[in-house]
Amino acid sequence: MILVEDSVDVLIVGAGPAGLSTAYHLNDSGLEVIVFESSYNPRSKPCAGLLQAEAFDEFPILRSVPKVAVEDVIVTYNDIEYHVEFEEPIAYVIDRTSAGWTLAGRMDAELELGGSVVDVKRIEEGRIVRVLRPDGETEEYKTRYLVGSDGALSIVRRKAGFHDRVNEYTIGSAYQAIVSGFYKPRLLLGRWAPKGYARVYPSPTGETRIGLGTLKAYSKGYRDKLFELLALYDIETYTPQFGYVPLVGRIKESVKNGAFLVGDAAGHVQPLNGMGIYYAMKAGKYAAEAIKKEDEMEYEKLRKSSFGYDLHLGRKALEKGIKSKVKKRFTKRLAKITAELLMGRVTKMNLIKARLIMKLGV
Ligand SMILES: Cc1cc2nc3c(=O)[nH]c(=O)nc-3n(C[C@H](O)[C@H](O)[C@H](O)COP(=O)(O)OP(=O)(O)OC[C@H]3O[C@@H](n4cnc5c(N)ncnc54)[C@H](O)[C@@H]3O)c2cc1C
Repeated sequence: MILVEDSVDVLIVGAGPAGLSTAYHLNDSGLEVIVFESSYNPRSKPCAGLLQAEAFDEFPILRSVPKVAVEDVIVTYNDIEYHVEFEEPIAYVIDRTSAGWTLAGRMDAELELGGSVVDVKRIEEGRIVRVLRPDGETEEYKTRYLVGSDGALSIVRRKAGFHDRVNEYTIGSAYQAIVSGFYKPRLLLGRWAPKGYARVYPSPTGETRIGLGTLKAYSKGYRDKLFELLALYDIETYTPQFGYVPLVGRIKESVKNGAFLVGDAAGHVQPLNGMGIYYAMKAGKYAAEAIKKEDEMEYEKLRKSSFGYDLHLGRKALEKGIKSKVKKRFTKRLAKITAELLMGRVTKMNLIKARLIMKLGV
């Protein structure tokens, strides 16, 4: 039974970093904004929580969130191991639940937990969005702007007429285990995670997330690889998790007739390392700016100039890395540059350096 029909200016689907950032950056807009989140928590999704250091300059609101600084990391390639140190923290592991509540607590938007968006229909002045409540009732909302920040398997992407490019070569499969206690940051390559990488990140909640990922097409046997990693640390008690990560790289369109795709829903993830929190936060900010200006193409402009090229570069490097048959001599320099790339610094300069080091074997 349909209960009521209500009307809002902006309806946001999903309270992950993308949706919450959009809502937060709409604070001074005077628009009526509502966020629907199907879970009861913004948001404890499977994620290791590693965030680039520069994200805290761009989003000062995150500075108060509990975090662990990553100042050094062990890099393991098959059985070779290096200890890599950075002059200052390259990244921080944040507690995502705490980050979610921090943003939610500072936004003017209404947050509806436990409501799942199940359908979207286009009408002349916007869209009608159908929401399924936890009690089984449905409600319909009319909205001028719709923001799909509902993750890798976005329903908004499918229902609002975006080209859905998800296939086993554009989506990554990520396995992780949450274990109690503090384990030192570590990256593992080669036989530990063929055509992908594994990582160990301690979180500020006193747990460590140990996981690995690659493109879905190459992820056969990855669950067993997770057990190998756990065995390396003699871990027998853990909480297993699985999640998809979009690794498309070049994104053709993230906005269409008042519907915005933000974060994972749009594929705003660095394909080389699977990191998406920072891009989700940025994209949310740009979507809010475009909505405030009533100029949706502003969103495409901002997100392309901010990180479009980086994602494209990362995807190219991922494809090259997967196809490469060259046996690498794993040097300390290569370990350092690999760590930088896998912990968020995917720049043209770092990719050139990595290629040179591999060619010269230094
Ligand atoms: C195992 C794993 C580890 C990762 N580790 C890292 C990392 O260390 N660092 C990093 O930067 N990135 C990491 N990522 C990627 C990162 O988690 C995502 O890029 C990031 O969460 C994207 O934010 P988002 O807001 O776009 O989507 P999400 O965080 O997925 O949020 C989407 C929200 O939408 C809600 N939702 C979905 N459908 C509906 C619906 N129909 N109605 C209402 N609500 C809905 C979901 O419940 C969810 O809360 C990891 C991913 C995985 C799977």
